[in-house]
Amino acid sequence: ISIQNLSKVFRTEEVETAALNQIALQINEGDFISVMGPSGCGKSTLLNIIGLLDGITSGSYKLLGQEINGLKENEKAKLRKQQIGFIFQNFNLIDELSVYDNIELPLIYNNVGSAERKKRVEAIAERLSLSHRLKHYPQQLSGGQQQRVAVARALITNPKIILADEPTGNLDSRNGNEVMELLTDLHANGATIMMVTHSDYDASFSQRTIHMKDGVILSEKQNARNVDVL
Ligand code: ADP
Ligand code: ADP
Repeated sequence: ISIQNLSKVFRTEEVETAALNQIALQINEGDFISVMGPSGCGKSTLLNIIGLLDGITSGSYKLLGQEINGLKENEKAKLRKQQIGFIFQNFNLIDELSVYDNIELPLIYNNVGSAERKKRVEAIAERLSLSHRLKHYPQQLSGGQQQRVAVARALITNPKIILADEPTGNLDSRNGNEVMELLTDLHANGATIMMVTHSDYDASFSQRTIHMKDGVILSEKQNARNVDVL
C-alpha cells in the first residue's frame, strides 16, 4: 500500500469537509499497523479508501503495484473481493442468515464452486472454534462469537490484506483479547493488517502505530511488543 499526497474532501450541498489532507503512508506486505486519533480525524475514511470502498479526491494510492485512481468500479470491486477482508466494530453480520451462510457469502461472490465452499467454511469454522455454531443465527451468539464469525467471513477468501475498524469496540476484555490474539496469529502467518482502534492496549499488538488529527498523520511510532514475547 503506497499513498502519496492523498486528500479526501466530502462535499454535501451545504458543507465541504476535508477529511484527509495530503496524507503519505507506506504499508509493506506483512506489516501490522494501527491507526489512532480522536473521533472525526479521518481514520475510517483512510481505512475505507485503502479498502476500495471509497474514492480519493486527489493524490495517489497504489495497491499491489496498481494505481487505483483510474480503475473502473468493477475492477476495484474485483480487487476488493479477492484481496481484502474487512472486520467491523458492529460485526456487520446478516441476521437472517445462519453462521454457515454468513461465512460462505464471500465465496459465492467470488464464484467458488459449492463443494469447495463447503470444505472451506468447515475448515475455517474449525479453526475459529465455530463448528458447533454453524446452524445458529447471529442473535443466538455472544458478542465474541459474533466477531469470530465476522473474522471467519473476512478470512474465507484468503485475503492479502485485513482491514479492521475498531474490531474490539463492542467486546468485553476477554472477547476483545481473543480477537487481538487472532489478529496477532494471522499477522504471524503473513497477513498484512491495518486496524483502527481507540485502545492503547490493542495498538500494542501491532508493529507500528500512527496517530492522526484533523485529517493528517501527526506521528508514527514502533511498538515494543513482538511475537516472541507473547
Ligand atoms: P474517524 O473515523 O476518525 O472518526 P471519519 O473518517 O469517519 O473519522 O470522518 C472524518 C471527517 O469526514 C469527519 O469530519 C466526518 O464528519 C467527515 N465524513 C466522513 N464520512 C463522510 C460522508 N460520507 N459525508 C460527509 N462527511 C463525511
Ligand atoms: P458472554 O458471556 O460472552 O456475553 P452470553 O452470556 O451472551 O455470552 O452467552 C453465553 C453462552 O450462551 C454463549 O455460548 C452463547 O452462544 C449462548 N447463547 C446466548 N444466547 C443464546 C441464544 N439465544 N440461543 C442459543 N445460545 C445462546
